[in-house]
Amino acid sequence: MKLVLASGNPGKLKEFGALLADGGFEVVPQASLGVDDVEETGLSFIENALLKARHAARASGLPALADDSGLCVEHLDGAPGLYSARYAGTHGDNAANNTRLLRELDGVPDERRGAFFICVLVLLRHAEDPAPLIAEGRWHGRVLHAPRGTQGFGYDPLFLPDGETASAAELPAGLKNRISHRGRALAGLRQRLASPHA
Ligand code: IMP
Repeated sequence: MKLVLASGNPGKLKEFGALLADGGFEVVPQASLGVDDVEETGLSFIENALLKARHAARASGLPALADDSGLCVEHLDGAPGLYSARYAGTHGDNAANNTRLLRELDGVPDERRGAFFICVLVLLRHAEDPAPLIAEGRWHGRVLHAPRGTQGFGYDPLFLPDGETASAAELPAGLKNRISHRGRALAGLRQRLASPHA
């Protein structure tokens, strides 16, 4: 059974493909079916993940999986939040995003630099599915005062996970993928799919 992934990111395609292969699903990127990106007009991660999955299911006639993720900083009332990928203006400019985050937190002490990454996954069995499978993962920590490490992507060099001495960009990728927001959400979805009532 084909399942459409509401993303064009090759890393995600691989990760989700592996997750869902056991369930007999072949995961295909929405672009390969001619499905365009939907406008992400929601005000929360779950709303945007639902919009993306609903659009992909409707346009393709297939079950659909979507994810939405980002970084929420408590002192900034949850920013960069939904705008994590384009915090500094240009989509995906990680260096500029990190520079802006450091600027916004200039002079803010450690105890007020608490933050978490969040990932929400939504699986719709069909476009009108009234009861989607939803899994959420959060990864708590705080924002460092300067970048550390070269692995990972996005805000990883500025994120010190709770209970770790290494930043997210200093952790081995395998460990990050197990304990991160995305790892936790994926584990949750896997559990849901394995349940007889999934
Ligand atoms: P998307 O949901 O993959 O588009 O991610 C949105 C944005 O959130 C990314 O562009 C990153 O800026 C940030 N982000 C999400 N997950 C991570 C992560 O694991 N590490 C660092 N940044 C992340």
